[in-house]
Amino acid sequence: MSRNFTRREFINISTFALGGLALGRGVINKIDRAYAGNTQSAIPALTGAIEGNITKTPTYCEICFWNCAGWMHQIDGKPWKLTGNEDDPNCSGRLCTRGTGGIGAYLDDERLKKPLIRTSERGGQTFREASWDEALDYIAEKMIKIKEEHGPECVALFTHGSGGAFFKHLLKSYGSNNIAAPSYAQCRGPREEGFYLTFGDGIGSPERTDLRDAKCIVLIGSHLGENMHNGQVQEFAEAIGKGSSIITVDPRYSTAASKSRYWLPIRPATDMALLLAWINVIVEEKLYDRDYVEKYTIGLEKLAEAVKENTPEWAYPLTSIEPGVIRATAREMASHKPATIVHPGRHVTWYGDDTQRSRAIAILNALMGSWGRRGGFYSPNFADVPEFPHPEYVKPKRSWRDAFPTEFPMAGTALANGICDATIPTVRNELGSEPCNFKGWIVYGTNLMHTLPDQKKTLEAIQNLDLLVAVDLMPAEITGWADVVLPECSYLERYDDLRLAQGRTPTISLRMPAFEPMYDSKPGWWIARELGLKLGLDEYYQYETIEEYLDWRLKQVGSSLAELQEKGVVQQGDQYPLYIEEGYEPEFDTDSGKIELYSETLEAYGFDPVPRYTHHEQPPDGFYRLLYGRAPMHSFARTTNNPILTEMMCENEVWVNTSVAKIWDLDNGQYIVLVNQDGVKSSRIKVRVTERIRHDSVYMVHGFGHSDKRMKRSYMKGADDNKLMTKVLLDPIMGGTGMRGNFVTFETENNN
Ligand code: SF4
Repeated sequence: MSRNFTRREFINISTFALGGLALGRGVINKIDRAYAGNTQSAIPALTGAIEGNITKTPTYCEICFWNCAGWMHQIDGKPWKLTGNEDDPNCSGRLCTRGTGGIGAYLDDERLKKPLIRTSERGGQTFREASWDEALDYIAEKMIKIKEEHGPECVALFTHGSGGAFFKHLLKSYGSNNIAAPSYAQCRGPREEGFYLTFGDGIGSPERTDLRDAKCIVLIGSHLGENMHNGQVQEFAEAIGKGSSIITVDPRYSTAASKSRYWLPIRPATDMALLLAWINVIVEEKLYDRDYVEKYTIGLEKLAEAVKENTPEWAYPLTSIEPGVIRATAREMASHKPATIVHPGRHVTWYGDDTQRSRAIAILNALMGSWGRRGGFYSPNFADVPEFPHPEYVKPKRSWRDAFPTEFPMAGTALANGICDATIPTVRNELGSEPCNFKGWIVYGTNLMHTLPDQKKTLEAIQNLDLLVAVDLMPAEITGWADVVLPECSYLERYDDLRLAQGRTPTISLRMPAFEPMYDSKPGWWIARELGLKLGLDEYYQYETIEEYLDWRLKQVGSSLAELQEKGVVQQGDQYPLYIEEGYEPEFDTDSGKIELYSETLEAYGFDPVPRYTHHEQPPDGFYRLLYGRAPMHSFARTTNNPILTEMMCENEVWVNTSVAKIWDLDNGQYIVLVNQDGVKSSRIKVRVTERIRHDSVYMVHGFGHSDKRMKRSYMKGADDNKLMTKVLLDPIMGGTGMRGNFVTFETENNN
């Protein structure tokens, strides 16, 4: 506790394995300088032994959706360090690098500070400061007008993050259920639907993968370790330590690939061919779990018939993976069944046939018998806490679905891109559907300019709105287009709703304020409630304080706010068996009541009942497929201005294969511009010349290249891959936006 760390030491050791360290003095001094004079934010100087009154406040991390529970430690009320809560199964007492840097979200002096109201045309970025009362009155007046003229359903909510729960309640109380999270149609939606169609249940979050006991883990474009999802990565490390066999399919030699027994550097966009060839081998050689398949599945014969031509030899010219390797890896995964996980991935919106690719992954897992088995996919437990009482929501007369009467039949929730489309009258008319519905957007905690592909279309939709409200911590690009900007305080300055996570153990955790909100920022719950009251929705807010709200909920399950304030995390409810071998009785919520290897549901909608290979365009000469992913110290655009995390990585690089760099005469560290197939250019980005990426692709970390000058640490640092995604490959089954069909070439000073 008395040890001080230098900045470099902090960067080196504040890794996943050693999460939860104090901030290094260098970092502290840097931030302290940045906030000189702001007594609210100054960090105590650490010189020698810690002196002062040490306290800790429970929270759960908001740096990513994993929401690890932790403690904010303070010395004399000033921030000291963030650590994980030992009782939290999501983190087992250890925060990841990004999580320890969460203090930077609180300390960022470029945060939004006051409510803002636009004073010029959209895009002009001219605002005036307003009081909360004035800003909320302005919004309420517009929302009442929209309700009277068009109906409440014409207001939509885009949400990402914990405080979104209060805005969902607000919108439903107001009369709309048009609530979209880009984490569905721009990220994990296809896997949820692909698994649901197969098992009658989705994967959920955190994932129900039993990695710690898996004997074989197959990763397909999933770069665990670089996507630092805490508990999952801890279990992945545990599995590696126990000698699990790892098979990684990735055009890039990722960190996970470096830990693997097999690395299959597949030609991008041909993953389905590999999956079908694996299924072919497993079925032909009868390597599947026969008892399990016989007891729980239907459609094996039809599956066998459908994949009989998809041999490894068929897949070889498509994937560039040799038949011998395909056979060897199929046999490898079968030899460890049922403790084999073909990982469902997380960001899976790639090529537009993503639900079918996820279904192929689900089918492979079914053949391995891994659903409901130790070392496969356990049956999760859930905490269950009653809602605070409120009148029934008024049933909306219309929904986002009306704009899409025949499309995307399996979409389980509103599509962010769908709401965007339905806001542009001409786009919907072209598709032969209902005219525009949406007049108002509330955007909570999601920078749509970085999360939705096809930025041009997003801007066109915005120009059709009567009201755009952005609630955010940072002046993210979307706030520049808003009519009203509402500054939310950071997660360390607020209460939020209870975290009820799925997992092996059902737990509840609490976030409470460690600090008073800085500037004129407010908690999301307060903003939503005040707006609700101004909209005349008083009956939906029968509590005066958030403490009253939380305490009531907790008391219904035998706990209390006081208990959570002391412990941070409590276990709640019954714990049911996790595995079939321990008494879990699987039920499959499919039409047949079985695991569907052949889906008559899909067939009835005119889709392939068994996944089939679809040919996807390959890059033309001189172009390279644009691949993107995560870095362990950032959560995309959410953290790229964080003063602590930018110390570790302040810009992204574009990975270019050595042979390609030679052709283009590119040097390591040289700045270039990427130009996509439609002529759209990126900002400057540094080249990383490496053998670790295929010659037909380039790779960059998503979330950089901010164009809003108000975020000085991230303004024009690196490039924004999203800007280059002008081609979107829509998944016809559930509406996901495939974003890996874009190609780029290089512009240098020499060839410009
Ligand atoms: S994985 Fe890391 S960033 Fe995400 S919630 Fe946990 S500690 Fe925070």
